[in-house]
Amino acid sequence: MARPTARPTARPTARPTARPIALAGIGKIARDQHIPAITADPAWTLAATVSRNAGVDGVPAHAGMAEMLAAHPDIGTVSLALPAGPRFGYAMAAMAAGRHVMLEKPPALGLAECHALERSARDAGVCLFATWHSRMAHGVEAARARLSGQTIRKVQITWAEDVRQWHPGQDWVWQAGGMGVMDPGINALSILTRILHQPLRLTGGRFDIPAGRQTPIAAELTFAHPHGASVAASFDWRQQGAQTWEITVETTAEHLRLVDGGARLMVDGQETHAGPDREYPGLYRRMSQLVSEGQSDADFSPLVHVADAFMLAERRTVAPFDW
Ligand code: NAP
Repeated sequence: MARPTARPTARPTARPTARPIALAGIGKIARDQHIPAITADPAWTLAATVSRNAGVDGVPAHAGMAEMLAAHPDIGTVSLALPAGPRFGYAMAAMAAGRHVMLEKPPALGLAECHALERSARDAGVCLFATWHSRMAHGVEAARARLSGQTIRKVQITWAEDVRQWHPGQDWVWQAGGMGVMDPGINALSILTRILHQPLRLTGGRFDIPAGRQTPIAAELTFAHPHGASVAASFDWRQQGAQTWEITVETTAEHLRLVDGGARLMVDGQETHAGPDREYPGLYRRMSQLVSEGQSDADFSPLVHVADAFMLAERRTVAPFDW
């Protein structure tokens, strides 16, 4: 059954060279990022939405994935902007129906789901893109290139933001599987696992969990580096005012700072790379490339660290959290 539509945010007219794409989960990140990115990209036409509550003016809207798949055999790609909990079923259904799938981060609730998603994509012969939007930030690839061959001494991640600003009223973040502060923290880990050329191993940490909630509001983590570098991360969702998303890397030769979530790279105090936000446009460009080449891109290493943190971190109960 078609759903009523909401705000006129997308251009509904099909472009001759564009591939039709469906977007599922019309919530905060769909409105903030996915719809503007799809609309601005000539490679894609938003051809359907899947939502229990909303839609986009002029775009066919469906309440469920099965219904959308049956109604639109021409739509080859489905982008899933829902939380990980409900996303897995949608992804499996779309791939079983022979559609390419683009996953918001984190890619799944757990590692078994990641393996199942990978297997399904392989069996169905479709492309699976497990996106990490932070990896598209301006300074990230430059930092990776710069660190190649360098000896790392120390890495420190500081990710401090206001949960009320970024997840207003979203109770799923406090439920088991919602990840709490590890939901933004995994963005930092997605950058870390991209810029370092050596695999890390999480060795321990501490979660601060608000009384009555299931997930942490703050986390301190430590990692072992194969060459003995000191690597630590500090995530906090109680930040007021200015937000901090910063990774510093000290090598034997220089001092790198990735600030603003990777958007700016400073080397020994000098800014070397910076630019406007291009993360979601970058994701849709990459998806277009993957579909053209018949490839998948599914790196689950950031989720491995999160899973290890939930296995290894000590728990401390802190003050209750209310919206
Ligand atoms: P959200 O607004 O709470 O949820 C997005 C949409 O998902 C909801 O509006 C709803 O869409 C659908 N949904 C939620 N629960 C569902 C359920 N049980 N069954 C079916 N559909 C359900 O969350 P969000 O902030 O957009 O986050 C979604 C994903 O994007 C998360 O994985 C998050 O980590 C990631 N992300 C978020 C941000 C951010 O700033 N918030 C930034 C980057 C990435 P309908 O009402 O249309 O059914």
